[in-house]
Amino acid sequence: MRIWLFRLLSLISVILFGVVGVNAQSDRLKVVVTYSILGDVVQNIAGDAVDLTVLVGADADTHSYEPVPQDSVAISQANIIFENGLGFESWMDDLYTAAASQAQRVVVSQGITAGTITVGDEAGETDPHIWQNPYNFLRVAELVRDTLVAADPANATTYELNANAYITQLLEADTYVIGQIQTIPADQRKLVTNHDAFGYFASRYGLEIIGTALGSVSTEGASGSAGNVVALVEAIRATGAKAIFPENIENADVVTQIANEAGVTVGAPLCSDALTPADGPCPTYLQLILYNADSVVAALGQ
Ligand SMILES: [Zn+2]
Repeated sequence: MRIWLFRLLSLISVILFGVVGVNAQSDRLKVVVTYSILGDVVQNIAGDAVDLTVLVGADADTHSYEPVPQDSVAISQANIIFENGLGFESWMDDLYTAAASQAQRVVVSQGITAGTITVGDEAGETDPHIWQNPYNFLRVAELVRDTLVAADPANATTYELNANAYITQLLEADTYVIGQIQTIPADQRKLVTNHDAFGYFASRYGLEIIGTALGSVSTEGASGSAGNVVALVEAIRATGAKAIFPENIENADVVTQIANEAGVTVGAPLCSDALTPADGPCPTYLQLILYNADSVVAALGQ
């Protein structure tokens, strides 16, 4: 969309929604979160003490997201924006500027050691998918807690108690996954996925990334080149990887094609960059962690 058109639509939306907005009288902190997984973490810590808006919802792809005018409204009214960083939300700077927002931007990957892609043409590039290691999101939960406490001290006790309870659950999930992955024979802990979203998962739990169907750390503009498909089929055969996993945010036929050519099974779709709707397997971040581990064990632990 042309930037002037975007600004015009944003302005119209601010006027319309500003007049009728149900939150106009609320004195609760207005918090915007860019994607659903992080949104769930903030929701758990904030409870109903804040007005929370999540921009990129369930089963949706943040890499290729195109902001809508309502996003601009939410950002223009926000006190705090929580975002992932590391190039995940490539559209965020323009959206923030176009909305003339005064909100505090909190990049939750700050202080987390960023991983890099280990396979394919993008080897060495920064990997934004920090949530696939719950230990990273323990740090994120602390950052969210501290940010909310500083901005809204009247509700400090709520944020602190909620964060403590949530961090305990994150540690329990991490312990569960460690135990589950150890049930897979060591030489079968080999991961092939649709896009390169599971590097932090692999390094935390001791799996080897063999390759990805799209050959890319982002889904944006990636379609799985013929050359990449040939190379990946060869890598699967050479390493004895037992399965390839699709993902919830994108329906990639190339995954099925690769499985057929390599003679391996298609695993359950992993929850990569978004939660699922409530009736799916990953309605919360904690369930995402457990479900992905169970799905990997089911396909690789045979
Ligand atoms: Zn991704």
